[in-house]
Amino acid sequence: MNSIKQSDALARVKPSPTLAVTQKARELKAAGKDVISLGAGEPDFDTPDYVKDAAIAAIRNGETKYTAVDGIPELKDAIIAKFQRDNGLDYSRDQISVGPGGKAVIYNALVATLNSGDEVIIPAPYWVSYPDMVLLAGGEPVIVDASLENGFRLTPDTLEKAITPKTKWLIFNSPSNPTGAGYSHEDIKQLTDVILRHPQMMIMSDDMYEHIVYDGFQFATPAQVEPKLYDRTLTVNGASKAYAMTGWRIGYAGGPHDLIKAMAKVMSQSTSNACSISQWAAATALNGDHGFLKERNTAFKERRDMVVEMLNAAEGISCATPQGAFYVYPSCKGVIGKKTPSGVLIESDAEFAAQLLIAEGVAVVFGAAFGSSPFFRISYAAAIDQLRDACERIQRFCGTLR
Ligand code: GLU
Repeated sequence: MNSIKQSDALARVKPSPTLAVTQKARELKAAGKDVISLGAGEPDFDTPDYVKDAAIAAIRNGETKYTAVDGIPELKDAIIAKFQRDNGLDYSRDQISVGPGGKAVIYNALVATLNSGDEVIIPAPYWVSYPDMVLLAGGEPVIVDASLENGFRLTPDTLEKAITPKTKWLIFNSPSNPTGAGYSHEDIKQLTDVILRHPQMMIMSDDMYEHIVYDGFQFATPAQVEPKLYDRTLTVNGASKAYAMTGWRIGYAGGPHDLIKAMAKVMSQSTSNACSISQWAAATALNGDHGFLKERNTAFKERRDMVVEMLNAAEGISCATPQGAFYVYPSCKGVIGKKTPSGVLIESDAEFAAQLLIAEGVAVVFGAAFGSSPFFRISYAAAIDQLRDACERIQRFCGTLR
């Protein structure tokens, strides 16, 4: 078979590390290995029954054809109601875009707006796909440090210094994947004050973990905090995390009409609409009773507290307590430079994750994938017994390093 030469655009990017780790764990399990997969960020809960019922009804009602490119009116109305209810944001139907997953919505927005050389500011640690999506869309990711010392939050000073006349977007994510760090109303205000002074740039706010917060943390989003930026903000969200609907692929955004129209143009020539059945299911999810979220957050919090405590008890590991999402992002600085019993030098977080998988069958994602080392990410969206087992294995592994 002829080998295919990748396009220059594709050659600039790498495959998604979160999906690669998950796939690797899947293969090891299929081969009979005892693997605990804490790689992908995916709730272990099932999609609620009322949502499944809506999907079955949609199939029976023949809602199985092409839909409007960027979403059926019924889902757009449910999204409009959600933005009003949860965020105090008013949008009309022509300001809403529905796509096949939050990932696709972000990608569409970048493709719709970036020219060669346009810069996108991305605080690190970042979700693995932001920089590569910017590269694929022809732009330049500008990575800025959101350091552990500042609770993994971007400071206004760091933001100000990164802005140039070419800056097109800041990608903002709270609670954050991979750190779980949440920005308060006041934290966001300090950032939006900076952005107000730079009319060439917009904010893309990835609010995917909005509903997964702990200890009374009050979620806020930039367009709500600074109404003057309403016309310069794309507020992105989705059904995947809150409703445990990762496989259904429904993401959505509210933003300025021109941008939403441009995103629809991208979709019309690429994916067309998100799955019709998933759209009906998502409309029901958004309009439904959200009581189950509280119950699930209580379970997530119990897991978070146990994982943080057990990781801090592992030699060389230090783990901060996050405000939201279902990730922890511990430092593994204390094991760098040590050797495994078989003599392998742990010289990086990638090596730490690789050796942990070999020795104890625990799959985690290494920090370099998120632009910040030496750390690793654990998704604690797994059963508590499995998490306890995984943390015991991590403690045991760290205890063997010399
Ligand atoms: N957002 C999830 C994660 O970070 C899903 C996998 C992905 O698309 O990256 O693990």
